[in-house]
Amino acid sequence: MKITPLISLAISALILLASCDSPESNLVRRTQFIMGTLVEITLGEDDTAKTQQAMDLAFDEMSRLENLMSTHLPDSEISKLNQQAGKGYTLLSQDVLIVIKRALIWGHKTSGAFDISIGPVVKLWRFTDENPTVPPPAILQQAAKSVNYKNVQIDDVMVRLSKPGMALHLGAIAKGYAVDSAMAVLKNNGIQNAMINAGGDLAVIGNRALNKPWKIGLQHPRKPEQLIASFNLAEGSVATSGDYQRYFIHDKKRYHHILNPDDGKPARGLISATVITVNTMDADALATGVFVMGAEKGMQLIESLTGAEALLILESGEILLSKNLQSEPSFKLKKF
Ligand code: ADP
Ligand code: MG
Repeated sequence: MKITPLISLAISALILLASCDSPESNLVRRTQFIMGTLVEITLGEDDTAKTQQAMDLAFDEMSRLENLMSTHLPDSEISKLNQQAGKGYTLLSQDVLIVIKRALIWGHKTSGAFDISIGPVVKLWRFTDENPTVPPPAILQQAAKSVNYKNVQIDDVMVRLSKPGMALHLGAIAKGYAVDSAMAVLKNNGIQNAMINAGGDLAVIGNRALNKPWKIGLQHPRKPEQLIASFNLAEGSVATSGDYQRYFIHDKKRYHHILNPDDGKPARGLISATVITVNTMDADALATGVFVMGAEKGMQLIESLTGAEALLILESGEILLSKNLQSEPSFKLKKF
């Protein structure tokens, strides 16, 4: 039995093409490690004390949200809520409530493919450890039984996990919300041209330079140094869930961190799902949900939503695009 070390592409599934274009003297860029990933903020603005301060505040906002929602921090609101599983209600702050409520909506719309009560299963896979292993099937099956977003009860500003052993994990949605909140902070501080990329959960406003839109490049899932697609984005969000971001190989099989709530195993069928929407929280949740749903049902869901587009890459190498993406003039696609 051979296990190769965990490979985590912390940098991102999305590469900013602007950086390899003509030199952009006006871009102000900074990175910081938050929520288990390298977050990059790029401003298409002059480098002044004011823009630097806006950037400080945006990073602070993301750290603040990480402190509320991380399961790695024993004092976070989510950790406290999980400790109360099967017991009483926990009072939560506005931000956490917004994310949980939105997550339950996506749980419903994806017929349970997206499920934030995946916590007990995530814990067994230990994808963030040095040497993750495949959990024993019986234990995994048992943990999967306690996954059901319908057992998350909300009473105004309080939440209760109704079954003992339940645990929330916001890994598939919190980063998206944090990007949206950080973007709001930038806007409130006078920034009009910005990109925030949190390891593949990304939002843009304005332009990267005068009359030059932000360009988004999607990383090739199997050739990290190459792009599979690129397009311009004026205002909106992009998120990618892929089997190449956090995974290990065991007995020649790839085990990745996007899990099917039904059996607790890595979802099969797709190797990546990219979703473009108006806000990053939805893009984040949908990318994960669509990945689990698979090509057919996933694309059906995307086409049923207004303002949502998707690029799906199947295990076969086939690439599926939502209708409007096919006709987007700036959209360029390479063969897999
Ligand atoms: P990334 O973190 O690379 O952006 P995702 O947004 O797809 O990728 O989130 C994956 C994380 O979400 C996993 O690490 C796990 O914590 C959690 N997760 C895994 N499967 C599901 C699922 N079916 N529904 C909700 N959350 C999930
Ligand atoms: Mg996600």
